[in-house]
Amino acid sequence: MAVRDYIRERFFPHIWCPGCGHGTVMGSMIRAIESLGIKKNDIVVVSGIGCSSRICGYLDFHSLHTIHGRALAFATGVKLSRPELTLIVPMGDGDALAIGGNHFIHAARRNIDITVIIMNNSTYGMTGGQYSPLTGYGSFATTAPYGNIDQSFDLVRLALGAGASFVARSTTYHVESMIKILEEAIAHKGFSVVEILSQCPTYFGRKNKFASAVDMLNYYKSHTTPIGSKEKEKNPDLVERGIFVREERPEYCDEYSKIIEKASRER
Ligand code: SF4
Repeated sequence: MAVRDYIRERFFPHIWCPGCGHGTVMGSMIRAIESLGIKKNDIVVVSGIGCSSRICGYLDFHSLHTIHGRALAFATGVKLSRPELTLIVPMGDGDALAIGGNHFIHAARRNIDITVIIMNNSTYGMTGGQYSPLTGYGSFATTAPYGNIDQSFDLVRLALGAGASFVARSTTYHVESMIKILEEAIAHKGFSVVEILSQCPTYFGRKNKFASAVDMLNYYKSHTTPIGSKEKEKNPDLVERGIFVREERPEYCDEYSKIIEKASRER
C-alpha cells in the first residue's frame, strides 16, 4: 500500500508547526507497519493529549483519542478485551511521564503487549512550552525563564527499572534506524518502549537558542551515538541510541487468559 493509504486525509492539513518532528515519527510508524504487513483493521492506536497525540486521528487505524495521561489505561482495557489486536500508543514526554507517569510504570511492570512511542521534545508543546519531566536541568521553558532546576528522568532507565521487556531510543535525525526499531518494538511480544528525540522548534527550540529545526536535527546527530560505541568512551555526555533490552517474559494477557481458564474449570 502507499503511505497515503494509511492517512485520514479528511483531517488534513495537520496542526503541526513547520519543522516539528512528529510528522517524521508518524511517517516512520507507517513504514514500520507496512513492512510488518499488519492489516489496518488489526491495529488500534490510542493516544492522550498533546501535539504528538494527534497521530492517532491522522492514521487510518482504529483510533481512541482519550484524556491527558490516561492513554495506557485505555490501551490496557482494549488489549485485555481483544488481545489479538496490535496496540500502539504515541505519547509526548509530559503526557507519558508526568500526567501519565503512574500508568506508564505499571503498564511496564505488567509487561502487557503494547508498544509505546514517546516523542521526547522536552516540553509541553500544545499548551505553550511549559517544562516537562524531560526538559533537563538548566534548559529554558515558558515556566522556567531563568532555567529549569528540575532534574530529568532518564526515560530508558525508568522503563528498564519498571520492567519493560523492550526498550529503545532513536531520534528524528536517524530515520532509517528509527523505522527498524519501531518494527522490532511492534513485533515484540510484551511492553515495548521507544523514546524518540523529536524536535519542537516552536517552543523548546526558540527558548533554548536553536536557530531552526535543522539546527535541532544536527544536535541529535552530534549529541547521540550508537549503544556501546567508542565515541561514548571518549565523551560520556553523548546520549546512546539503539535497542537497550529485548527479553522474552510472561505477557500480561497470556497470564490473564490462564486465570480465566482456571476459574472456568472450577465453576
Ligand atoms: S508546538 Fe512544538 S510539538 Fe507542537 S506542533 Fe509545534 S513544533 Fe510540534
